[in-house]
Amino acid sequence: MTALVLEGVTRRYGAKAAVEEVGLTLRPGRITALLGPSGSGKTTLMRLIAGLEAIDAGTIRLGEEILSSPGLHTPPEARGVGLVFQDYALFPHLSVLDNVAFGLGGMPRKAREARALALLGQVGLADRARNWPHDLSGGEQQRVALMRAMAREPKVLLLDEPFSGLDSHLKGAVRDFLFPALKVSGAAVAIVTHDVDEALLLADDLVLLHQGRVLQSGAPVDCYREPVSPKAARLLGDATVLEGWVKDGLATTAFGALPVAAQADGEVQIVLRPESVRLDPAGVPAKVVGVRFAGQGFDYRLEREGRTLSLRAEEGRAEVGDIVSVSLDPAAARLFRQAR
Ligand code: ADP
Ligand code: MG
Repeated sequence: MTALVLEGVTRRYGAKAAVEEVGLTLRPGRITALLGPSGSGKTTLMRLIAGLEAIDAGTIRLGEEILSSPGLHTPPEARGVGLVFQDYALFPHLSVLDNVAFGLGGMPRKAREARALALLGQVGLADRARNWPHDLSGGEQQRVALMRAMAREPKVLLLDEPFSGLDSHLKGAVRDFLFPALKVSGAAVAIVTHDVDEALLLADDLVLLHQGRVLQSGAPVDCYREPVSPKAARLLGDATVLEGWVKDGLATTAFGALPVAAQADGEVQIVLRPESVRLDPAGVPAKVVGVRFAGQGFDYRLEREGRTLSLRAEEGRAEVGDIVSVSLDPAAARLFRQAR
């Protein structure tokens, strides 16, 4: 199987670039999550890879084969790229089995049906093969749509917010069925999402998009722990950005001082995840301005010297208005020079 590689890919609408100088690699047998806010170019990127639109600059290659470059455009049906959108419309007049078999042109009918049935079995729907699409729940229909795309054995499978129409219970069920099946297929899979938890959960590789550009890419854990900028940190979950002033290896912030070895004196921005702020009797006092139960713990908003900070704690003993004592974990804090 071959990787799909984008280099310097740009797509403009009028004067505005929807996708700008994007470089990324979708690897076979791996799931790449593309995460970014609404309007960051995720759908445009999928459409460019699928060949539904031409590119203005750069190249899209599948292995050695160029699929898109300015002046060269392989048509969508010749790319070996499957695309599943949020509105996964099945053919209403075809059975579930025939919907999946639809992609298997050229094979004898018996073989097509056997293959379609095997695909449905992979997502727990073999016993629904003779049903009509409208007999199925939304989650089941979504699984059928995905298997219809898989039937063509695409080298690359693009899923654009495939779960946004499903409730959270169904999402979990579809994910549990689908992703193991996708990985076995060996296809290079890209899943577009604006849900941070979903991206962190599903991705082998993560790409953070902002205003049509790649801000950061890599393993989810690295992107989370080692953001390249405060903006990248904010895109990937709750992050507090505190101003700090470094003098002689110590950064002073609204929430106390932080030892910062090997940092030149001057202004910095300090990125802290909620779990790198601790309740600590030896810390500085801060006022609780918000508490939220978050399942595995409690999310606090704390205020001091006119600044706020997020903290994740196991215990929920403090209430709004209380004064707690906090310290910042120097090992987990990430420092950035003030952009000037
Ligand atoms: P996302 O999927 O991340 O929400 P899109 O790729 O849909 O983002 O859109 C990226 C940007 O490109 C947006 O500013 C959007 O308005 C613009 N855009 C997308 N498609 C078109 C189009 N066909 N014509 C003009 N502008 C477009
Ligand atoms: Mg979109």
